[in-house]
Amino acid sequence: MTIMFNNSGTTPPGDEPRSERIRFHDLNAGYPGRQVLHQLTSGIPALTMTALVGPNGSGKSTLLGVLAGVIDATSGHLRYTEGSPPAFVPQRGAVGDTLPLTARQTVEMGRWGERGLWRKLTRKDRTAVDSAMERLGVADLAARQLGELSGGQRQRVLIAQGLAQQSDLLLLDEPTTGLDPEARNRITALLADLVADGTTVVQATHDLEAARSADACLLLADGRLIGQGPPEEVLTATALSRVWQPG
Ligand code: ADP
Repeated sequence: MTIMFNNSGTTPPGDEPRSERIRFHDLNAGYPGRQVLHQLTSGIPALTMTALVGPNGSGKSTLLGVLAGVIDATSGHLRYTEGSPPAFVPQRGAVGDTLPLTARQTVEMGRWGERGLWRKLTRKDRTAVDSAMERLGVADLAARQLGELSGGQRQRVLIAQGLAQQSDLLLLDEPTTGLDPEARNRITALLADLVADGTTVVQATHDLEAARSADACLLLADGRLIGQGPPEEVLTATALSRVWQPG
C-alpha cells in the first residue's frame, strides 16, 4: 500500500481535482482471512460533508478506518493533500460505557496524540478541550461519568474529543445512529457548522436522511463502490433498491 502526503511522490493514474482532501485508488482492505473492500477508487472533496453510505456490513466502517489510518489497506494508493492528521470519532458502541472516565477526561484524550499519554496537559491543550466542550454543549457535563450520560450526550462528548484534536479533517462513524430526532438534528447542524468553518467532514452512516443532507456520497454495497457524487444523483430509488434488498 502506498500512502502519500502533500502531493509528493509518484501520482497514481487518474485525474485529481485540487479541491480533494483525500484521494484513493484501487484500495483493498479487510481483516485477517476476510477481504472487505474491493478496488475502491474515489476521493473526499475538501471543505464539504461526505457521507459513506450503505447497508450494515457494506464496509463503511472499514473504509472510514482506512481513511483514519487505524486500519491498514492491503493494497492500493491513498493520498492526503496538505493538512493535519485526521481526527477519528469511533462508533459510540465501540467505546466502553463502563470505563471509569469523566466526560472531561474523555475529551482530554483527544490531546494525547499531540501531548503523549503521560505528559501533563498544557494551557493550549486545556483551551482546546474547553472550547471543544463548549462548542458541543457538554461543558456542564465535565465531571459526569461517561457511562451515566444519555446516548446523545455521550455522542457529543466523543465528537468533542475529535474536535479537541483541532484537525481540519474529521471522520465520524455513525454519529447520529440510535439517537432521538432532537439529538440527531443537533449533531447534524453542528457538523454543518464545522464544514462552514473550514473542516472537511466524513461520516459513515446507514441513515439515509443524514446521507441526503451531505454534499457528496460514496455508496457502498458488499465492499464495492457503486455510486459517488451528490446525494440526489447517487441515492436514487433504483440504486437504493439494488442495495437495500427487501427482507
Ligand atoms: P459497515 O460499517 O458498513 O456496517 P463494516 O466495515 O463494519 O461495515 O463491516 C464490513 C464487513 O467486515 C462485515 O461483513 C463485517 O462482519 C466484517 N468485519 C468488520 N469488522 C471486522 C473485524 N474486526 N474482523 C473481521 N471481520 C470484520
